[in-house]
Amino acid sequence: MGLIYLDNNATTRTDPAVVEAMLPWFSERYGNAGSAHALGHLSAGAVEAAREQVAALLGAMPEEIVFNSGGTEGINHALRGVFEANPARRHFVTTAVEHSALVETSSWLRRNGVEVTVLPVDAAGRLDLEELEAAIRTDTGLVSIMAANNETGVLFPLDQIAPRVKAKGALLHVDAVQAVGKVPLDLASLPVDLLNLSAHKFHGPKGVGALFIRRGLRVKPLLPGHQERGRRATTENVPGLVGLGKAAVLAAKRLTDMKQVQALRDELEAAIRSIPGAIIHGAATERLPNTCFAGFEGLEGEALLLKLNERGICVSTGSACAAGQTEPSPVLKAMKAPFAKGSIRFSLSHETTREEIQVVTKVLPQLVTEARV
Ligand code: PLP
Repeated sequence: MGLIYLDNNATTRTDPAVVEAMLPWFSERYGNAGSAHALGHLSAGAVEAAREQVAALLGAMPEEIVFNSGGTEGINHALRGVFEANPARRHFVTTAVEHSALVETSSWLRRNGVEVTVLPVDAAGRLDLEELEAAIRTDTGLVSIMAANNETGVLFPLDQIAPRVKAKGALLHVDAVQAVGKVPLDLASLPVDLLNLSAHKFHGPKGVGALFIRRGLRVKPLLPGHQERGRRATTENVPGLVGLGKAAVLAAKRLTDMKQVQALRDELEAAIRSIPGAIIHGAATERLPNTCFAGFEGLEGEALLLKLNERGICVSTGSACAAGQTEPSPVLKAMKAPFAKGSIRFSLSHETTREEIQVVTKVLPQLVTEARV
């Protein structure tokens, strides 16, 4: 057996059908989407087709989709763009378990005169919705809450959160990078104002993503210019966008596969729970079907990761962006979780097989024992 890849929350394998769809746009169809000739029109048509595919995945309108370079850019555009467009409101509300891209952008807001309220979570990683409502003030310009946590997979109940935020008169941004392709999202029925996604998390190419901006909302561009209807300058990444569109179509079709993914994840978790001194973070609440973040008493996560790696099993100690750091994950810190330094994230995809999970469950107890000495 080759590598067993259980790090799909860090990134996914680009689907072969996505690669195939992208290839002609690197070679014979190389026109600039802004050019007035035939090759340009061909590229512009491909970009608009991709916009329709992404909009269909989200239940949005094509004109509400702004293409970009991925999750980090979408978060920066949403947060900075909203506060720049409405300088009268100087208060931002977010949670203690957001991705580092959002934490960094919050710091940028703070440095630029925005007051930031960070909401705590409980031991299961849940928000207190009454606390959220109470935190929203008349000068709150934006509330930003992730759809699903990248480390624990904990899902925030957007159907309950969005109406509460709207009732208090604030805008809502959702970082949906980990949710897209794993759980259904329907912006036609969910009153969210801004939402960002990233293609490489659902079998699309790296460095491509989108920001949904609800029709009529004023948001300053990060890169002013004429492309993307004045919302993001630079020559369109046509192959990347074609890949994103194809990945969006496949993701919608594969949502039903998530039941099988969850069954494999649950099989893995049953095996982990039978190891003495092992727990599953966030298991007391709703989670993504593919994610298992396990804590083991008396070991360093990094040591267990290396042992799994020696067996060809690819996992993570938390977010890829934090890999190599010795500090425990801020997400587990916020949850006051036990065994924070001894935690390993397994993240599956529709490509994960039963045989692979069986190999992992077979070797894991022994590797945990070895990592504990
Ligand atoms: N938000 C979440 C929840 C993520 O998991 C990630 C990537 O790990 C990002 C944002 C950043 O996305 P990108 O890698 O496309 O910049």
